[in-house]
Amino acid sequence: MTEPKRYPSEPVELPDRSDYREPAPVEGCAGCVELAKVRDWARAGHDYTTVTDCNVLMARHPDGH
Ligand SMILES: [Zn+2]
Repeated sequence: MTEPKRYPSEPVELPDRSDYREPAPVEGCAGCVELAKVRDWARAGHDYTTVTDCNVLMARHPDGH
């Protein structure tokens, strides 16, 4: 009799996104406005890769302000 090997797997802990806030576009910055627009379009099309890209770019943007 061979007993199947069982590997106890820890429950995968997903980051809690409930308090995640997307970066807000900086007022008066055309680049941020553009990013926010693209982000909205991407979200409408369920393109979350682009949404994330826009968020990353927007979060970095303050360096250039
Ligand atoms: Zn900006």
